[in-house]
Amino acid sequence: MSDQTTMQNPAKQYSKAQGQGDGTLQPEPGSDTTLNPRPDHGESSYKGLGRLKGRKALITGGDSGIGAAVAIAYAREGADVAISYLPEEEEDAKKILKLIEEAGQKALALPGDIKNEKTCKEIVQKTVDTFGAIDILVNNAGKQEFVGELQDVTSEQFQHTFQTNVFAMFWITQAAVPHMPEGASIINTTSIQSYQPSPGLLDYASTKGAITSFTKSLAKMLADKGIRVNAVAPGPIWTPLQPSHGQPPEKLQQFGENTPLGRAGQPAEVAPSYVFLASQESSYITAEVIGVTGGHHLP
Ligand code: NAD
Ligand code: MG
Repeated sequence: MSDQTTMQNPAKQYSKAQGQGDGTLQPEPGSDTTLNPRPDHGESSYKGLGRLKGRKALITGGDSGIGAAVAIAYAREGADVAISYLPEEEEDAKKILKLIEEAGQKALALPGDIKNEKTCKEIVQKTVDTFGAIDILVNNAGKQEFVGELQDVTSEQFQHTFQTNVFAMFWITQAAVPHMPEGASIINTTSIQSYQPSPGLLDYASTKGAITSFTKSLAKMLADKGIRVNAVAPGPIWTPLQPSHGQPPEKLQQFGENTPLGRAGQPAEVAPSYVFLASQESSYITAEVIGVTGGHHLP
């Protein structure tokens, strides 16, 4: 079980099996509701300390996986939270929206395909119309499709991966920044794949390299506005992204095993880095990337 405070051996905090599939694949974008074994998003464990009291947050891909764990943590830290997701993910999203409200915060549902520039602008506008501002922007939505052979990577896949992971980040950030006050924070989800790209993830790893550079460049552009920009680079985390064609079935059965900690991570173990980067506790940190990798460190 996730526990933010009890001292324990991190290698044994979750079992290897809780972060591995039996090889069963789901159609994209994947469902958290039917994901087996169940990931831990901190539902029963995350305790807030008021670090984000009164803040307004927009999280893309907030229905499931890492984004869902971040949404729960932000709400329990006192933030109102808007989550964007694909319309077919309504069932997952409803659960997270309910948890945000149960934390005593406002929740805003933003279904829509962010491969579309107009949708990206609408997501931002609806958040501003409802919350009045955006204090925290988490660009976390992502597409990952494993293809083993170069000749089998289609132009359509290459384009869709870049539209989802990189273009949407640009469109949403560009629309959001005019509504972000001094002290606001932008956090992008990059990946260990930005630093140690795997064969079979050519388009995905390339987008993550772009996200890391986007983060560092933007941080320098926005420093004089008092807005910090950072990224989190997760290693193998048990989420619907992986069994929805993010990995081949045989890799799912060993997922995370080759990390120094010997297991995959859970979304609940990634969320605290997003809390830290959003809060004023990280006031002197910008243009930085925090690795949450189980020991496969960033260079
Ligand atoms: P996830 O499937 O739970 O989250 C990804 C979300 O992206 C989906 O829930 C979906 O709502 C959103 N999304 C995808 N395409 C979209 C589109 N066209 N329009 C709107 N929303 C769209 O999986 P996750 O692992 O939590 O992924 C979150 C982020 O973490 C991604 O950027 C992913 O690349 C990154 N990441 C994951 C891992 C891992 O091992 N799980 C490792 C490193 C980085
Ligand atoms: Mg999802």
